[in-house]
Amino acid sequence: MKFSINNPCPCGSGIKYKKCCGKYHKGLVAKTALELMKSRYTAFAIEKIDYIIKTSTFQKDFDDLKSFSKNCEFKKLEILEFIDGNSEAYVTFRATISCDTQDNSFTEKSRFIKENGKWYYQSGQIL
Ligand SMILES: [Zn+2]
Repeated sequence: MKFSINNPCPCGSGIKYKKCCGKYHKGLVAKTALELMKSRYTAFAIEKIDYIIKTSTFQKDFDDLKSFSKNCEFKKLEILEFIDGNSEAYVTFRATISCDTQDNSFTEKSRFIKENGKWYYQSGQIL
C-alpha cells in the first residue's frame, strides 16, 4: 500500500497525516514530548527512518530501524500516561504492532529530554 499524505495519520489522531505528524516530519519543532512521541511512532509506521534518527539522543543502526519499520505493521497507538516537564518528560504508551504476521505489541515508558529547545527520545523501558 502506498502511503498518501492525505491518509489518516497513523498516530490515531483522526486527522490527515499532512495536518498531523506530517508537519513535524517536514520540520516543525514538536512543542511537547508527547507530540514528538506520536510523530516518531508515525515515522516508524511509514518508514521515515531519518526522522527517527534525528529525534534520538543516541545512534541507532539505520538498516535495523529500516527493517523493523518495513517488516512490521503499526496498527494502533494508545497513550497511557504523559508526564510533562521543562527539560525531561515521560510518555507511557501501548503500541499494537505485528511483525511478519506475529504479534509484537508492547508497552513502553519512554524518557525524553529537551536540549536547545528541542525534544529528543532518550531511552525506553519496556513494561
Ligand atoms: Zn499524527
